[in-house]
Amino acid sequence: MRTLFISDLHLDDARPETTEWFLAFAGGPAQSADAVYILGDLFEYWIGDDALSAAAKTVAGATSALAKSGVPVSFIHGNRDFLLGSDYAAAAALKLLPESITVDLYGYPTLLLHGDTLCTDDHAYQAFRSQSRDPAWQQAVLAMSVDERLALAQNARNVSMAHTGSAGMDIMDVNPDAVTKAFRDSGTHRMIHGHTHRPAVHSHDLGSGEEGQRIVLADWYDKGSYLEVTAAGFFSKDL
Ligand code: MN
Repeated sequence: MRTLFISDLHLDDARPETTEWFLAFAGGPAQSADAVYILGDLFEYWIGDDALSAAAKTVAGATSALAKSGVPVSFIHGNRDFLLGSDYAAAAALKLLPESITVDLYGYPTLLLHGDTLCTDDHAYQAFRSQSRDPAWQQAVLAMSVDERLALAQNARNVSMAHTGSAGMDIMDVNPDAVTKAFRDSGTHRMIHGHTHRPAVHSHDLGSGEEGQRIVLADWYDKGSYLEVTAAGFFSKDL
């Protein structure tokens, strides 16, 4: 009885080894899981379900096989693959989840999210997030040619890299008040997220003697890894 969590794989045809790690995950530990949750940034970028990378096609084969074998695979959008839509989700047998959701894990309610919504000190990013989650903006982008969308995605990655380099480290991390609010709004005492690429387990003071546990998933830049949650607790594992 175990549920597995991954995020921030940033799969990209330019780094095919990462897709190989995903295949090792899907064909290995995921096989005996009760469920798999992908908490965003599965892909380095996503320009539409009509323009699939080789990695996206490979992933769809692996996740649909997992689902067919009885392991449900759920997906929360990240800030890179927020345009991933229902066509691809259907082809890959991914269950699309809202931006945050509380699930019961062996009797323990747990809040799941990508993590970008907690980084409220990064005003430039939050402004872009509001714009890019607007259905009208998304429709306009998806109506562009593939070349135009590729250029837009490349530009967004350049801007993001320049921003990550210049913004302070604390601005790029979660805001403590946003974390408190997420715990309070969901009524949970445990959350799992990715996005910050700072894997850790944090104790979060909720006041009045209450404590929340915030588990941050690792990215897959150097190696593949996942979080395993069982009735006994949670365990970070490398592939
Ligand atoms: Mn992210």
